[in-house]
Amino acid sequence: MAGQREIWLGQQRDPDNPAYYIGEYLALRGELNFSLFERAVRQTVNEVEAFHLEFSTGAGVPQQRVRGERDWRLHVVDLTNEHSANDVAVQWMQDDLARPVDLSASLITQAIFKISPEEVFWYQRAHHIAADGFCGPIVIARAAQIYNELLAGTPQASEPLKPIDLLLDADRLYRASEEFEVDKAFWKNEFSDIPEKFTLGGRGVSGTLRTRIRNKTILPSLESADLKALARSYRTSLSGLILAASAIYLHRMSGMQDIVLGLPAVARTGGTQRGIPGMMNNTLPVRLTMQPDMSLEQAVRHVTLRVREVLRHQRYRYEDLLRDLRVEPGQVLHSLTVNVMSFDYGVQFGDCETSAHNLRGGPINDASIAVYDRAEGQGIEVAFDANPDLYTEEENERNAERFLRVLEWLKNAPSAQTISEATVLGADERRRLLVDWNDTDVDVPDATFPELFEAQAARTPSATALVFAGAEVSYAELNRRANRLARLLVERGLGPESVVALCFRPGIDMIVALLAVGKAGAAYLPLDPKYPADRLAYMVRDAAPAVALTAAQELAALPDGVEPIVLDQPQLAQYLAKLPDSDLTDDERRGRLRPHHPVYIIYTSGSTGTPKGVVIPHGGLTNYLVWAAKVYPELRGRTAFHASYAFDGSVTTLQGPLACGGAVVVAASDDTFVDALEGASLDLLKVTPSHLPLLAMSTGGAVPSKRLLLGGEPLRRQELEQWRRQHPSLQVVNHFGPTETTVGCADHHINPGDDLAEGTVPIGGPIDNTRTYVLDAGLRPVPVGVAGELYVAGSGLARGYLNRAGLSAQRFVACPFGGPGERMYRTGDVVRWRADGQLEYLGRADHQVKVRGFRIEL
Ligand code: AMP
Ligand code: MG
Repeated sequence: MAGQREIWLGQQRDPDNPAYYIGEYLALRGELNFSLFERAVRQTVNEVEAFHLEFSTGAGVPQQRVRGERDWRLHVVDLTNEHSANDVAVQWMQDDLARPVDLSASLITQAIFKISPEEVFWYQRAHHIAADGFCGPIVIARAAQIYNELLAGTPQASEPLKPIDLLLDADRLYRASEEFEVDKAFWKNEFSDIPEKFTLGGRGVSGTLRTRIRNKTILPSLESADLKALARSYRTSLSGLILAASAIYLHRMSGMQDIVLGLPAVARTGGTQRGIPGMMNNTLPVRLTMQPDMSLEQAVRHVTLRVREVLRHQRYRYEDLLRDLRVEPGQVLHSLTVNVMSFDYGVQFGDCETSAHNLRGGPINDASIAVYDRAEGQGIEVAFDANPDLYTEEENERNAERFLRVLEWLKNAPSAQTISEATVLGADERRRLLVDWNDTDVDVPDATFPELFEAQAARTPSATALVFAGAEVSYAELNRRANRLARLLVERGLGPESVVALCFRPGIDMIVALLAVGKAGAAYLPLDPKYPADRLAYMVRDAAPAVALTAAQELAALPDGVEPIVLDQPQLAQYLAKLPDSDLTDDERRGRLRPHHPVYIIYTSGSTGTPKGVVIPHGGLTNYLVWAAKVYPELRGRTAFHASYAFDGSVTTLQGPLACGGAVVVAASDDTFVDALEGASLDLLKVTPSHLPLLAMSTGGAVPSKRLLLGGEPLRRQELEQWRRQHPSLQVVNHFGPTETTVGCADHHINPGDDLAEGTVPIGGPIDNTRTYVLDAGLRPVPVGVAGELYVAGSGLARGYLNRAGLSAQRFVACPFGGPGERMYRTGDVVRWRADGQLEYLGRADHQVKVRGFRIEL
């Protein structure tokens, strides 16, 4: 049969692997005539032809036939004198299920355990090639029938089980029938486009067959009778209800609307076929559309109708469909299988009560939910199974808990409630995500960047602040020059809330000017002379700087519409030399400089879209600089400033060291920074990951001795690993942050010798006084491991976009988790929490891309 062939091939690829075993046991309680029971079991097992199949490979094609003789063994184990007979028996079964496969030997294990005078376990294990999950009830019902007849003294009153040929013939007939073609067309139409796949573990597919890990919960609070009554009120079955819960669960876990569930189906037609044990079952990929604003009732209805529809085409094999669709080998369309089985077999052996217990249900692809509807009064049993290659036990347990929460919700929610309100997070997890992992409050001095720099200049006046083209500038000297220029700006009427453009190529004057603007209390607007002229012109029009500090050689690049102050003009230099060079006080300034005043305006995004000016206040910059000096102590050593100052990534290694006493080696230009830094003997360097290959070519001069910061773009494990092998003693940091949150809002540290986990390199957790939230479209936190959009709140937030109130309101939204009036920034980045509280970067929610660290909106 077609389904058997897939199993046969799967087993050939991994011959010993016991993943294809299925096993269960039936517990019988009460007065049992043991010898009659044993006879009934023997007779039943003999009748099941599927258990006695034998395989051969003629011409490469597997053939099967039913063995003539019945050479199987019934183990009878008396445990009535054992201490925990129950456990001993189950352990025996588990050991049996772990045994390597031999397809040339018997396909089954049969054992009867006497647990106590009132209790017997009947264990059956079969290879999946012989039996599917629907065989258990058939076999057990037949055994009960024989036993009851023996007990009544009317042996052989009923007919034996029918031969497996009937199933095989039906399968052959079906595959040659018109119905087969109809089904094929149906399924191809269902998947005329291939839906994006979501897996709970987010880890893609596993190549090997694995025995599932299982998280089993018995839910006494969810009486099957209650659930069935609820199902009836929704005009569906228990199975329909559980499938709806699963679809809602996947929808809430993924945020996706196009959901595919795997539904095991008997794939047999007619009463006769349904009474013959064998391997016929099929998995149906049920494609569902789950919209967040659907009511619970609509969702249940939709799922029920869809299931009904696909069941009409259940005989068309999934493997055939995958081949039709040219799905890559090993891939499937669904990630979660959902199976609801009645384990109330409703059989009685004389007066004995029975209960069935599933032990193993064949190999697992990704994850599966199996619900066993047990006998009256025993509740339902939910087994959440997972492939151990893709999930840890803990992750599986969490997923199980979340599913149960959705089930609870479904049970209690009014039918008109929307499915977006289904609860997946528990209170503990919610607190961990929102509070514990965002517990970053620390005190930060109430000082601006110029004040931090001035304090440093007072502490270490003769220390080197800048190194450029062979010359060195001390802290005291840099401070004096900046103070004089600041006084000039104040004379020109500039102060807090004014904007001063800077148009320089890298050099000492650029940095003097940048400090001077801050000291005057104004915000600097970097105009990189290398930027396209129309972009610079736009920035000048938009930000309307009062003046532009620049150099004679940049005048050509400076757009019209702003008055230049040319620093290297001789008269100006003479004038400046006469101004006092002590630190400015608030009294001298045009107004008091406070933390909410802007310190810089940096334009982002827009080689095609309109660039927007991000207005960063002093408070945010101070918070970042104080934090950076704490976590990157090498900023007090030698660092390099090589990236464009029109890009906030450069703040870390320019303002960063100047706020804490480091020496900044100023490189002429980004493209040649490796050459420019030859011999610089740096302690710390910050680059984008795309610079790594350049850095690998450096003969050593540009490579820092202590710490490498990487940021601005996704960091791939592989390229980092390669690089780390060459520089094993370096501290490496993945530094993350949008311009809108002041340079960086999260970082992940990789110490020498640390192994990188599979997947992407995490971006870490929030920095000081910062909170990071991973939210769904309704601004609800998503669970650990689930992709959501990253929102950032806290000290680093920009004031907004200059002159773009509407856009600011869209991206800086009210924070539902903070105090009154608090905002959070919507990054547009898709991330997920790892179980250890580190964030993993997954991609963008929009069409923004980065080229060498620069944002571009497509
Ligand atoms: P920018 O405003 O130029 O700093 O760009 C910010 C954007 O760059 C973020 O929203 C991310 O999309 C991306 N980005 C920055 N740092 C990282 C990082 N370490 N890993 C992945 N993406 C990053
Ligand atoms: Mg950034």
